Amino acid sequence: MKELTVGIDIGGTNTKLGIVDREGNVLHQGSIATTKYDSFNDYFDAMASSVDESAKSLPSGSKIIGIGIGAANGNYYTGNIEHSVNLKWKGVLPLAKTFTERYGVPCILTNDANAAAVGEMIYGNARNMKDFVVITLGTGLGSGFVCGGILLNGHHGIAGELGHTSVNPTGRFCNCGKRGCLETYVSATGIKRTVYKLLADHLESSELRGISFDNLSTKMITEAAQRGDVVAHAAFEYTGRILGMKLADTVVHTDPEAIFLFGGLSLAGDLIFKPTIKHMEANLMPVFRGKVKVLPSALQNQAAPILGASSLVWDHFAKSTSALQV
Ligand SMILES: [Zn+2]
Repeated sequence: MKELTVGIDIGGTNTKLGIVDREGNVLHQGSIATTKYDSFNDYFDAMASSVDESAKSLPSGSKIIGIGIGAANGNYYTGNIEHSVNLKWKGVLPLAKTFTERYGVPCILTNDANAAAVGEMIYGNARNMKDFVVITLGTGLGSGFVCGGILLNGHHGIAGELGHTSVNPTGRFCNCGKRGCLETYVSATGIKRTVYKLLADHLESSELRGISFDNLSTKMITEAAQRGDVVAHAAFEYTGRILGMKLADTVVHTDPEAIFLFGGLSLAGDLIFKPTIKHMEANLMPVFRGKVKVLPSALQNQAAPILGASSLVWDHFAKSTSALQV
């Protein structure tokens, strides 16, 4: 009997689904438009239909043993999505319970950054690590902490929200209502804000002048920096400095073996890694210097969110099994 898992990544715009084996091969995948459904029940039925459709073409002798879901505001303890700001259905959405009732298998829900951390541990570069941090650099900044081989959920299920720790109490305004949060500087949106600030403060010529804020992308800033654009380069240096200083603090909390960078900004390679490592090392307590690796995630592809979500199921069963050992 070949055991398989379902991974579902719920984004504000699209929901991606896939069936994944233990080695991280995505056997089938599909996608539905999250925004298309007016009621949560209709949305759930569309997800279930997509799972059923994928399951039809599985090899005989295979069996789905669980469903993992990564979603912003997904609560691991309750299995609910609670008061999401980027979904149209408000209040508490009982996702894990609804899936378990329909399929009779465990359904594990957590936020997308936590799913990325477990994905790195099950399929990625953290396979032999027990203490590490994954930082996801997308529109915002998410993070997942693994300590002693266990994902940190915290008392309320929202541990490790590094994106909303402060780097400047009188700094940039954040969607969360605070000021100076890390993600207002270190994220796809954050580096765009930095580019605009640099363009306003300096007179140097730059290929980024004249591009509207909405049209500017991380990829454009990366390519400009690779061509030697002084403003784009300075934006990466500044972003890496803020991230490196914050990572130096982060290391003190959980003493990780490594910190993985995942997503958009991390694809800029040395442009972001070099200043991040330099400023982290410069700000670390001496006892940690030269010991904590900053590495790229191994899951940098289209299927990464599905892999992260599906990995929650393998992690769930690994823990259940170890609980039985004497
Ligand atoms: Zn914030």
